[in-house]
Amino acid sequence: MPDLKLIDPCNRHLNYLRISITDRCNLKCMYCVPRDHITRLSHDEILTYEEILRLVRIGIKLGISKIRVTGGEPLVRKGVYGFLGELSRIKGLTDLSLTTNGVALKDNLEKIKSAGIKRVNISLDTLQRKKFAQITGLDLFGQVWQGIEMARQMGFHPIKLNIVALAGVNDDELKDMARLSFDYPYHIRFIEYMPIGDSQMGNGPLLLAPEIKKRISDLGTLIPVRNSVNDGPAQRYRFEGARGEVGFIHALSHHFCDRCNRLRLTASGQLRPCLLSDHHEDIKGPLRRGCSDDELAEIFFRAVRHKPSDHNLAVHNPDRVCGQMSAIGG
Ligand code: SAM
Repeated sequence: MPDLKLIDPCNRHLNYLRISITDRCNLKCMYCVPRDHITRLSHDEILTYEEILRLVRIGIKLGISKIRVTGGEPLVRKGVYGFLGELSRIKGLTDLSLTTNGVALKDNLEKIKSAGIKRVNISLDTLQRKKFAQITGLDLFGQVWQGIEMARQMGFHPIKLNIVALAGVNDDELKDMARLSFDYPYHIRFIEYMPIGDSQMGNGPLLLAPEIKKRISDLGTLIPVRNSVNDGPAQRYRFEGARGEVGFIHALSHHFCDRCNRLRLTASGQLRPCLLSDHHEDIKGPLRRGCSDDELAEIFFRAVRHKPSDHNLAVHNPDRVCGQMSAIGG
């Protein structure tokens, strides 16, 4: 295999692979999927764990050092804990994390820990039980909150709580969410809603990071926290005296493409160099046709050559990105 690293035409070093291991999910979040008529990939269409592990080993030789396992909901896929264990034993991986909706967290934290996962991102778009059911389709707030608390008690750190900020839905809770960072060591992440695939969202006004920041600012002085090399694009802050942090993922209001180090492997076996562009390279076909590691490495390079310098999503009249977030991997 060539001793080359994944460096794109803009000289960005891609060392971070997000893997969606399933497009299935036990929730139907209003901003992520339509409530009805969800087309799902068949079992044969999704990559097997063995296939994913082979691609990860190739990716690591090409400079991938950080992996996030996501979905769909990763914890609904059979065999996921064994898979996570296999992943964490691969040499060269310095950072392995998981994004989950937290529904299956409380009963499986031991298995997640034993598999070698030290940190988790959990989606939590509201602190109100009724609204949780409205956003996700299921009345499971208590169960998710219990999972978050147990994860903290078991030493997972940092625990990042992902909140997609939705005008008219959870914007009355921005301060309550931010306030959590005073009492708990959680990293609260406000995410701007992105128009990806079909969802239950209309074309209403967007709630952007500068506005969120303004609305929570009277809780205290926001002190910037410097990102370390392997950190994501979040703009990070800590309120004076707080135990945790707040951060903003502002894909629309402030593109962070110049710092993007990500590549995505979708549940259906496509390499996507940018979440917000529809370009993808099929790697499952060649993998199943018996291509060598060198040939598969070339597909990684091809994807990287197509990484756009910037995405086209704009605050005004944003185009919708094709493909569901659940299959691409958020
Ligand atoms: N099921 C897991 C979960 O709920 O965290 C992992 C998959 S989910 C697709 C990953 C992340 O994408 C979540 O934090 C979710 O809030 C975010 N997400 C999904 N659709 C989004 C959208 N349209 N705009 C912004 N974030 C979105």
